[in-house]
This record gives sequence, structure tokens and C-alpha cells, in this order.
Amino acid sequence: MSALGQPRERFRAAAGRALEDRHTQPALDAATGRLRDARLAAWGLLPDVEELRERGREIKQRTIDDLDRYLDEFSRALEARGGHVHFAATAGEAADTIRDICRRGEARLVAKSKSMASEEIRLNEALERDGLRVVETDLGEYILQLAGEHPAHIIAPAIEKTAVEVAALLGAVDGSELRPELEKLTATARRQLRAVFETADVGVTGANFAVAETGSIVLVTNEGNGRLVSALPRTHVVILGMERLVPTTRDLGVLLRLLARSATGQKLTTYTTVLTGPRRPGEQDGPDELHVIVLDNGRSQLRRGRYREMLNCIRCGACLNVCPVYRKSGGDAYGPVYSGPMGAVLVPLLVGLEHAPSLPHASSLCGACAEACPVKIPLHELLLDLRRDLVAERVAPFWERMAFRLWALAWSTPLGYRLSTAAARFGAPLARRLPGPARAWASQRTLPPLARRRFRDRRR
Ligand code: SF4
Repeated sequence: MSALGQPRERFRAAAGRALEDRHTQPALDAATGRLRDARLAAWGLLPDVEELRERGREIKQRTIDDLDRYLDEFSRALEARGGHVHFAATAGEAADTIRDICRRGEARLVAKSKSMASEEIRLNEALERDGLRVVETDLGEYILQLAGEHPAHIIAPAIEKTAVEVAALLGAVDGSELRPELEKLTATARRQLRAVFETADVGVTGANFAVAETGSIVLVTNEGNGRLVSALPRTHVVILGMERLVPTTRDLGVLLRLLARSATGQKLTTYTTVLTGPRRPGEQDGPDELHVIVLDNGRSQLRRGRYREMLNCIRCGACLNVCPVYRKSGGDAYGPVYSGPMGAVLVPLLVGLEHAPSLPHASSLCGACAEACPVKIPLHELLLDLRRDLVAERVAPFWERMAFRLWALAWSTPLGYRLSTAAARFGAPLARRLPGPARAWASQRTLPPLARRRFRDRRR
């Protein structure tokens, strides 16, 4: 199974653990609430947020519609400036290309900036198998690497960790005890990571955007680690999900305004870096070599189908912060890479429904995610369509398919409808005593008392 997939029962089990964890619940609640409020305040200060969202959606849709042309334009522009472009059809191909680059450069230490695409291709495991040391340099990712865990949120990967836990992890690196005070923790992490920046042979980053007309890579971080990772090592490798292209720098301006505000509520993220090619003669900073790995891994297929809008995602995390399911179940329940509503849609599309059958159900379908999405992806509608596919493709369990078939049959005739609603009136109080999935469903819900006389009977 791909790094993204997960067995049917995993979501329920992992969500159950998160619900019982007395640290995770308040940490999730506070962090997602803070990010949600910051976005709402930032959107509120825009003169016309709806117009900006519409422009963002249009730019992304236009790019996806004509992606081949923009990929070609991007490659030619970057190669003209001395960069190398590699196309990878699968996660394995992408990881192998990066392994080759490291091997050729006789690399021993790899410094990484936060990249969900690198999680998607399981890059760390692949490089570590070759004997390389790989260090995450985003603070949240560094903490999770020390803990042996995966990111729980696209923007704030260590959202579920408390200061006490972080102090224990950072203290263990130095073999000393550390007090859980924020300034001390950041100073310690900075000191530990500084040595990595200075000695890394290869820097690996993702890309928030790539500009087709100039061949530029755009990195957006709040810690500045992306700049150090891309400027100090002699080789810089970028993993670029192919959907992250934008046609022009003018389009980039629109999406940057949306990304920062929707992710953290900032007008502009602290470090927005635009890199165009490796270091040129006379320049002081920058790598000798710049390699961009354009990652497909299922995206081309997705582009041709009815779920293509999902490729418009700019990975801002806003949908996670408002989702009642994510806010309780936490990131781990969705698997190791993409979580929340965007993950619940994207992961089954990339790996196949049969490899992530529980994710389309990880939603109350309240629509809060679509309302928060800066590029207006109708996430709840896509989730509903995926549920339909689960039944149509016979991925849903037998009892679920049978239940819906019987329901459809009953409501396809007036007699069946009358009998089933009459039966529901008498059967509802017994729902909690039913066996199997029906009991599980009813145990979490308070069923409203049904009227003694049906509406249609009263109208007679
Ligand atoms: S789906 Fe929309 S809200 Fe969610 S991460 Fe992507 S762009 Fe942001």
C-alpha cells in the first residue's frame, strides 16, 4: 500500500485514541480555534474577499485545464536559467531520482524544509536506507521527527504536542533536562538545527507555488528555514507537486494573498522566497545545482476526471481548522500525510478508494470546509460523490450496500414508503438494541421522537 493509504478500521481506532487523550483534545481545540479566528479576522479586513477567492479559483482552474502547456513553459524557463527538471510518474520514481542526485553528490547529510510531497513519497525512509542522515528543519517537523511521528496538520504539523512533551524531546538530544518555556525551547531547537544548516550537503524543500513564465520556485515559511535549506547546501532539490504551478507572477500575487490569510491570518507569510535557478556568477548565496522533481503520482489521472477541482488546493489548512471531525479526531486518524477534509478527499483519489475506504465518511457534511476554502473547492460535495463511488464500486461493506439498496427499493413505491415510515415510528426506540453497525450508529445519536401521526395523514 502507498504511504497515503490506510486500512478500513484505522480511522475509527486512531480517532478513538485521540478522543480519549486528555492532552490532544485541548491542544487541537485551542490551535485550530486560533487559526480559524485569525483567518476570519484577516478575511474581514479584505475589501472584497469573495472577489479574491473567485480570482484564486479561476487561476487554479485555468492552470489545471492547461497544465501540460504550463509545465512545458516552466521547464524551459528553469532550464534556461541553469536548473534541472525531472518528471516522476510515481512516488518511487521521485524518491529514486533524489537518491541518485544524493549519490552523485556523495552526500551524507540532508537538510529538509517542510514538504508534504516528501512525506507522500516517503523520502526520509528511502534516503535513510541509503545510509544518509536526514534532518527536518521546520520546528514542528523537527519535533515530530524526534518523536518518530508524522505531521498532524498541514500548516502546524506538531499541533497536538504540548510544551512539556517538546521539552522532553529537545532535552533528549542534548542529554539534559529542559524547562518547558517557549523561548528556551526555540533557542534550543535553533542551536541544534544551526549545525545542520551549516554542514548539510543537500537541501530538500517542497514548493508552495512554481511560476511557469519565469521558471521560479516559491517557498513560504514563517521560520526562515526554507531559505537556509535552499541557500547553504551545494545542491537544492525541490519536490514540486505538478498542480502547484501558476501561469504568471501576477497570478502568484493573488494566491499568496489568499494563502497567508487563510493559513495563519497573516497578510503575507514572514519569509516568501522566490528562487529562479541556481547561484549565478557573482552571487554570494545559492546552490551550485538546482533540481526540480515534478511529481505526478496520480495527479494526471485525477486531472481528467470529475474530481479535478481537488487539484486547486493550495494547502492552506483552513478546512482542517473548521472541520468538526478533524478537530476531535486529530491528524493521525487520516494517515501519515494529508488530513482533514482535504485529505479525506485527496487521499482516496490518489491511492484508490479501496485503499482508503473510511476517509470519505470522516465528515459530517456540514459544509464548513467548503465555506473556509479560499479557492472554493466544494469539499463536502466531493465527499458525498466519493461515498456514492464507494457503493457503486462495491468498496463499501456488504451490509451498507444492502441497506441502501433496500431503502431505495422501499421508497420507490408509495406503498413501500408508507410501510417503511410506519415501521420507523415503532422501530426507532429499538434502534439501540439492534446488533452490529445499526447499534454503533444509533449509540452516538439522539433520535428525535417521531410524531404520533404522520404529516401526510394529517393532511388527509
Ligand atoms: S482544500 Fe481548500 S481550505 Fe483545504 S487546504 Fe486546500 S485550499 Fe485550503
